[in-house]
Amino acid sequence: MRKHLLLAIAMMAVCALGIAALQAFYSWQSYQTEQRTFSRNVNEAFAVAVDSAMLVRTDEISEEFRSWISDTSFVRVTSRVNEIYGTTVFTLTETGPQSKGQKSISMSLENFTAKVEPITPEARKIFIDHMVRIARKDLRKGFVFFYTQKLGDRLDKAYFSIPVDTAIVRREFVKQLSKRQIAVDFTLKPIPKTEGLFQTEKQNLERKDLKKPRWIWATCYNSGFFVFQKLKWAIGGSVVLVLLTLFCFGYVLRLLLTQHKLSVIKDDFIRNMTHEIHTPLASLTVTAEALQRFDHDAPKRQEYLQILLHQLEKLGKLTNEIIKTAKSGTSGKETRKPVSIRSVLEDLIADFPSVFFTVVVPEDICVSANPTGLHRAFANLIDNAVKYNDKPKVEIRIIASETKRDVVIGISDNGPGIPISEKNNIFDAFYRIPTGDRHDVKGFGLGLHYVRKTIESLGGTIELAGSETGATFHIKIPK
Ligand code: ADP
Repeated sequence: MRKHLLLAIAMMAVCALGIAALQAFYSWQSYQTEQRTFSRNVNEAFAVAVDSAMLVRTDEISEEFRSWISDTSFVRVTSRVNEIYGTTVFTLTETGPQSKGQKSISMSLENFTAKVEPITPEARKIFIDHMVRIARKDLRKGFVFFYTQKLGDRLDKAYFSIPVDTAIVRREFVKQLSKRQIAVDFTLKPIPKTEGLFQTEKQNLERKDLKKPRWIWATCYNSGFFVFQKLKWAIGGSVVLVLLTLFCFGYVLRLLLTQHKLSVIKDDFIRNMTHEIHTPLASLTVTAEALQRFDHDAPKRQEYLQILLHQLEKLGKLTNEIIKTAKSGTSGKETRKPVSIRSVLEDLIADFPSVFFTVVVPEDICVSANPTGLHRAFANLIDNAVKYNDKPKVEIRIIASETKRDVVIGISDNGPGIPISEKNNIFDAFYRIPTGDRHDVKGFGLGLHYVRKTIESLGGTIELAGSETGATFHIKIPK
């Protein structure tokens, strides 16, 4: 049985641990996958944000470009009609101090069919819009086109030398993150890589000299928590499942152990019972046979009958004891009245003349109980203290005191004591501390069970106290 039990426990433990390990493994894998998805999304969001910031800057420059070509003190826009083709040709000419390079540029517009000479404000606006559009297109591709030297110089300076504002990068990054439903705090300050902080891939803000890159990257503070948050139901579910499995495992284990304990107790009980009943039964059989076989004289018959009665009385007592204990704990309630602890003890002490008692119990200490039940409970305790004692001089110490609500009683003896590991078992019905096959002290493991039931029926408690020598019980009964 023990072997099977151990095997079952080992298998259950392996199963429970296996489930826990698998759940932990899957949770870890999900976390890793989620983290990879997170880093891919954040990197993508950051790259898009930097690109958008560049575009925003390009658009800004295009608008600056519009203001430059609209400024007549900087350039002049004129138009004339080409006689051969019949189209309007626009000319952009630098004004002010002469520059070294190209001074002017002329072009006709594809969809502009009107013939305008000299230029009108509407035609001028159409031309400027067209110029801005193509300048923006070029800039987006990374080109700076020198329409005239001065315009080209300005455009080049604005595009290559004025850096993209990190505030725009920040704004665009926030937009991109929220588009992907990622809620993390971040900084664009160039802080070095630290354990536990997520950093995006670096993006280059430099456009002119690619050999001198101007890196920008984002450092996210609470990325781990964010990823964990996303997995909270999956991980929470796993934890609940594992806890449930462990709970079931514990519960079944408890049931198994209780079953095992019960079966051990049952075997013990049967062994004790057989032993207890066997002797009187054998004696009864022998005596009855003797009476039947031989024709004895009257005194001899009386002697045999006396033996029969004695053995029958013994058997009767035994059954009574079992029946009484089976009923114990319920009868106490019906007839409760104040009982003086001292008087109960004095009564009992008289039954044990050879025992050396030390009793420190004030006379007025009373509890409300059934006198017979309480008497039997104390009798069981004293009986045990004597029964299990191996000393030539048995000593029992009983001390009682009162608190506001309870009567507290301590009973100790100078016997072999009870291992504290048996603290919870000794009060179980039919439980006896295993002593191998020794049957020198008789009992059915019902004495302490009766005591506990009686005390508990009064709303009190009894427990075995750890003590160096002998056994000590602490009893607490409400007044
Ligand atoms: P039993 O009827 O077998 O004595 P109990 O319920 O009274 O059963 O006691 C349970 C077990 O506790 C006993 O088997 C015994 O080993 C142990 N025990 C009880 N009281 C004492 C004591 N005073 N000293 C040593 N062992 C004790």
